[in-house]
Amino acid sequence: MVEGGKKRVIILGAGVTGLSAGIRYLDNGCDVFILEKADHAGGLARTVVRGDYRLDIGPHHLFSQNEAILQEIIDLFEKDELISFSRDAKIYFHDRFLDYPLTAKNVIFNMGLKHALFTSISVVWTSLLKLFTKKRRETNFKEWATTNFGSYLYGIFFKPYTEQFWGVSCEELSLDCIPQTSKMSFAKTLKLIFLKKFEKESLSVAERETSLTLYYPIKGIGAIVEKLEKSFLSKGGKIKLSCDVSELITNKDGSFNIHFQYERETVVDDVNLVLSTIPISSLAQILRPLASPEIIQRANSLEYLSTIVLYIVIHERDVLDCAYLYMMDRPYNRISNTNRFHHKLCPEGENMLALEMTCHFNDKTWNSSDEELFEKCIDYLESDNFISRNEVKQYLTVRIKNAYPFYRLNYKNNLTEIFKYFKNIPNLSLAGRIGAFKYMDIDQCLEDTSELVERQKKEGTI
Ligand SMILES: Cc1cc2nc3c(=O)[nH]c(=O)nc-3n(C[C@H](O)[C@H](O)[C@H](O)COP(=O)(O)OP(=O)(O)OC[C@H]3O[C@@H](n4cnc5c(N)ncnc54)[C@H](O)[C@@H]3O)c2cc1C
Repeated sequence: MVEGGKKRVIILGAGVTGLSAGIRYLDNGCDVFILEKADHAGGLARTVVRGDYRLDIGPHHLFSQNEAILQEIIDLFEKDELISFSRDAKIYFHDRFLDYPLTAKNVIFNMGLKHALFTSISVVWTSLLKLFTKKRRETNFKEWATTNFGSYLYGIFFKPYTEQFWGVSCEELSLDCIPQTSKMSFAKTLKLIFLKKFEKESLSVAERETSLTLYYPIKGIGAIVEKLEKSFLSKGGKIKLSCDVSELITNKDGSFNIHFQYERETVVDDVNLVLSTIPISSLAQILRPLASPEIIQRANSLEYLSTIVLYIVIHERDVLDCAYLYMMDRPYNRISNTNRFHHKLCPEGENMLALEMTCHFNDKTWNSSDEELFEKCIDYLESDNFISRNEVKQYLTVRIKNAYPFYRLNYKNNLTEIFKYFKNIPNLSLAGRIGAFKYMDIDQCLEDTSELVERQKKEGTI
């Protein structure tokens, strides 16, 4: 039982969500501990330092249409620590560079006559068909893409890109991949161009990803979590790293006992409130009384897609005429030209290309050595005339086990049942990209914790 006085909060996970929530709870007079499994804070928004190289866990930029949240992050920095620019991305489509997002001019003049013609006919034909057939609810990604853009565009773009990214067929993917996946703004743009469906939601998604100012800390994206961590600690918060939580026991009075291993000792603590930002299956495993086998099974069925980033170091040269290049039919989904982010991410006179490869934890790609991954990519980089093998100085990798919530068909049924179960446990909340199984960017994680803490304040929970 927790004695009166300050509310005692335990947060599982020290990523953007955990740290920002921690700051908000401290600002509301709570006593806050963060328990983190890794030996460092930061989670997905970390910059790994390897010698003279600063490697983001997947190249990131900060952007937000929520001015208050954006300002909250900007205020963490001194003026010269953060740079800003506009979106600088392209799509590599059948040996051509297309603008990201696509413009109508681009489709007609840059996609190539054949693709432009067939795409236009296919889109018009599909739109006409829709006028004369009964509207059917699309149930998977393939149905959505073919119904909205026609089979031609599905075949040349949606299918190869989507299946390469997710590693499963489009029929196995939920429709939720569409509005929440930033890569799909290609689709949004095409929809805007061809169908002129300026729905409020479409516009805001497209706007979010293309028209917002991008910010980047000169020391790498990880500077944001470093600043959040510093702020959290300076306000009196405590973080325990390399912590292994074994049990989270719910008490009848709504409080919790938490058991964890820390510095080779078993610690037991009493808390009023728990916020989880860790994978849902991990939370289900530590909760006591144990959830039913059905809930555990549903929780285990919620998978996360993994990512490996292969950083290739070369002499300083602006290899791509953009910061991000989206790729199809390659082992990697996106290449980033890191000297367009900041030249100090690597030593003077050098540049890095960051190749992102999505995969599944423990699959063949995940278990490949760095050398195997490099060999898998270098021939493509050479044949696309981006770089040659002999200009490579070295390569490094960063591996991320839980990078993207994986929206397989039927994931929602499982998630809904699990949320119902967790909702019945008073004083337990779930938040963030991994904790709430929701495709979120940094700003949205901060928004999420802001709304949560405000709600708890109104309800009198804190
Ligand atoms: C490749 C990639 C590119 C991205 N690009 C952008 C971008 O350009 N702009 C942008 O705004 N966002 C981007 N994002 C999203 C952004 O990184 C995330 O939204 C954000 O970092 C998520 O923070 P989080 O705290 O919710 O989750 P996480 O960062 O995953 O934090 C969860 C924490 O919980 C810890 N943990 C796990 N299990 C346990 C356990 N059992 N016990 C205790 N702790 C545990 C983890 O170690 C981790 O530190 C990108 C993400 C990826 C993967």
